[in-house]
Amino acid sequence: MAIYLDNHSTTRLDPRVLEAMLPWLTDHYGNAGSTTHRMGHEARDAVEAAREKFARAVGAEPDEIIFTSGATESVNLAILGAAARRRAAGGRIVSWNAEHRAVLDPLEHLASRREAEVVLLPVAGRDESVPGLIDLERFREACTSGTFLATLLVANNEIGTIQPAAAVAELIHAAGGMLHLDCAQAIGRMAVDVDALGADLASFSAHKFHGPKGVGALFVRRRFRPARIAGRVFGGGQERGLRSGTLDVPGIVGMGEAAAIAAEGWREEAEAVGRLRDRLWEGLARQVPGVVLNGPPLDDAAVRLTCNLNLHVAGVDGQTLLATLAEEDLALSSGSACSSASPGPSHVLAAIGLGEDEARASLRFGLSRFTCPAEIDRAVDLIAAGVARLRR
Ligand SMILES: *Cc1c(COP(=O)(O)O)cnc(C)c1O
Repeated sequence: MAIYLDNHSTTRLDPRVLEAMLPWLTDHYGNAGSTTHRMGHEARDAVEAAREKFARAVGAEPDEIIFTSGATESVNLAILGAAARRRAAGGRIVSWNAEHRAVLDPLEHLASRREAEVVLLPVAGRDESVPGLIDLERFREACTSGTFLATLLVANNEIGTIQPAAAVAELIHAAGGMLHLDCAQAIGRMAVDVDALGADLASFSAHKFHGPKGVGALFVRRRFRPARIAGRVFGGGQERGLRSGTLDVPGIVGMGEAAAIAAEGWREEAEAVGRLRDRLWEGLARQVPGVVLNGPPLDDAAVRLTCNLNLHVAGVDGQTLLATLAEEDLALSSGSACSSASPGPSHVLAAIGLGEDEARASLRFGLSRFTCPAEIDRAVDLIAAGVARLRR
């Protein structure tokens, strides 16, 4: 049996979510945009019910939710859409160097075409109290009068750092800009309420919280402080014209269900998963000489996701170790699986000051509601044996 500890790259579909989706994959195959008949009506009603469920789970109104194909598309729509909507050319976007590639690449695209000035601020290094944390004073200084957008990864996908989003919101709003939050890793693992977080735009991905792959959402604030973005995909005008294309009815139904489950149970789940994560760390620290924690302290759930562990093993090549462990069907990742197309040390680990060798010796663990104690103990044994073998 596989031991799956790679829940930052994707998660297992919850059986309750699959059950909710099934009818929409079989008998009920109508197009939610084709409502001249019963099957179209049913599909539209299912999408609207899921929209309401999802909105409720993140503290939004249903008409503030745009369904997309995932967080990559949502982030691109938020960033490129905000830049396109800005009347004056130029203007500044502020972000950080430990963001996901889905944020860094569209920012690079805008900067290379001189469509915006992009400022990437550093995050706290490994020697500071919370590695990966942003610096609010630095951010305040970077928010010059032309700053129209700040984009922040609420919970880091490699080292689990949780950011002070509400404080960032206050500063960017004072400067007259909007805040986009990448919430892909947050939902189901910490409190996610778009009002409390101060988001104007927020990106989500169903497969990161036990929903299906290929569906996501962008929250676009309409109340109090309407966020202004332009669509990037043109066609049938679905999703208020911001994202044309036939809606993925089963995927959207699954996303609504998965979000409702996450909102209902995240607190107890985060505690239970945290106990397993601590058991994993303690086991490894005991059995593997030379393990070093990467990222924030494990004992503060306010600054680090409880499902996350990232470490490096002095003198061991992470890739080689992972290859050995993969033979035992132990699934985890070194650096970020999202960038496994571009091997090389993780930019997040580099951002907190790890050297290339240390980054290469790093392992990333992500636990979930489906992780059990026996798997943790077996993983510790396998890693300890693997490291011992490599060192011989
Ligand atoms: C997974 C992830 C994304 C991309 O989401 P997809 O739905 O896979 O496109 C973006 N940002 C973060 C932080 C992620 O973890």
